[in-house]
Formats: sequence, C-alpha cells, structure tokens
Amino acid sequence: MKQIIVGNWKMNGLSADADALAGALATELAALPTRADVVVCPPFTQLARLAPKLKAAGIALGAQDCHKDASGAHTGDISAPMLVDLGVQYVILGHSERRAEHHELDETVREKAVAAMAAGLTPIVCVGENDDQRSSGDSQATVGWQLEGSLPQGFTGIVAYEPIWAIGTGQAASQQDIADMSAFIRAELVRQFGEAGKTIRILYGGSVNARNVTDILPVEHVDGALVGNASLKAESFVPLVRAAR
Ligand code: 13P
Repeated sequence: MKQIIVGNWKMNGLSADADALAGALATELAALPTRADVVVCPPFTQLARLAPKLKAAGIALGAQDCHKDASGAHTGDISAPMLVDLGVQYVILGHSERRAEHHELDETVREKAVAAMAAGLTPIVCVGENDDQRSSGDSQATVGWQLEGSLPQGFTGIVAYEPIWAIGTGQAASQQDIADMSAFIRAELVRQFGEAGKTIRILYGGSVNARNVTDILPVEHVDGALVGNASLKAESFVPLVRAAR
C-alpha cells in the first residue's frame, strides 16, 4: 500500500499565506522523483482558492469536517456534497479537537463518515486516547471503543491514530507504542470488516516532524502520517513526504 502524508492546517492560513504555502509545496513536491500520496487540508475558507493550484500539482485536497446531512437548516455548517463541489477528495472527521471543542461523539463521527462516503469523499477518522486513559493503561480499550463507535458499516476510508497527549506537544508516541497500537487497530479493523479491514490505511498523528518521521513511517501497519504543525511550512512538510514510501 502506498503511504499517504496528510497535512492538517487546522485554523491557520489567510489567503496570502495559503497561496505561498501551496505554491511552495507544488514546486518542491514536483521535484521529487516518486512520492507517496499527499493531501493538504486547509481551512474551509481556502478550499476554493487552493483547489486548482493543488490539483495541477497532483496534491489532493482535504477538508477538516463536514455535516452529516447533505443540505438543510444547519447554520454555519458545511456538507459533504458542498466539499465535493469544490474538488475536495478527503475529509478529516472526529479530530480530538472537534470531539473536545464541539462535543462530537463517536455516533456523530459515524454519521458524518456515512455522509462523506455517500458523497464520494474519503473520510479520515481520528481516534486516540488522552493522558488519563493512557496512564491508567486504557489506551487500547479507548481506541477499540472509538473504532467500534465511529466507523460505519462498509467503511472504506482511513483511520488516524492520534494520541491526544502527543498532539502539538513536540512529544510523539514512541516507535513501540505506535507499533503496538497500529497492530491493535489492524486487528480491530479485520475483526470489524473482515478482509476489507486489511486495506484500510492507518495513519499516525501527533508531533510528527522531520526528525522522528524516519522512526515512524517504517513501522508495520503504519500507512502514513497526519501532520499538524509541520504541515504549515514547506520546509518542514516536504521532508515528511520524502521519507514516505
Ligand atoms: P501536530 O502535528 O501539530 O502535533 O498535530 C497533529 C494533529 O492533530 C494532526 O491532525
């Protein structure tokens, strides 16, 4: 399976920054001989602006959320078909920041994943334990419940393991922790989806950078990375793509 590097810009990027970053990525990634799949997920406000530039560079466009309904009375929300309409191919769902700040439950995430797949998007569903759950030895149990609750029947998207304590801290999970959790997730996916569970890509996210990426990407069952901070500059993002297979 080809690896995939996904940049999650979160709530960053006014037009001038977004243009500059997308332009730099387009130029620098074009210079790589062969490369992994690359997805960039800017804020909603930059999607339409960046779509043509990224498409021309062979970089896929992703969004950071979508609503479970296709349209209707949901002030301030964005639907999956609206994203497809702009040329978006991927959507991050159930990021821990949305679970925390917008009270998204596993069930919410599952409904959004159904909507995303129905519209033709590839959902990237995030799971991961917090510090307390980790200290009490409940990391796998937490992730197991999240997978069971957040992934709909017939799921064909991507799963991102993002331990909450590793996000934005500069402290990525250890190679061993990533290996153990990725193997656990693979087994859970096979339990939930049978043979199809073997083809679902598993990403690691949480303080991935140019120094630790060479420890993370070779780990068995790791099919790529979901990257926050290091995706905000071409000089820190391109080395991650270069490290992928
Ligand atoms: P950082 O790479 O900044 O730790 O963020 C990870 C993340 O939340 C990506 O979705």
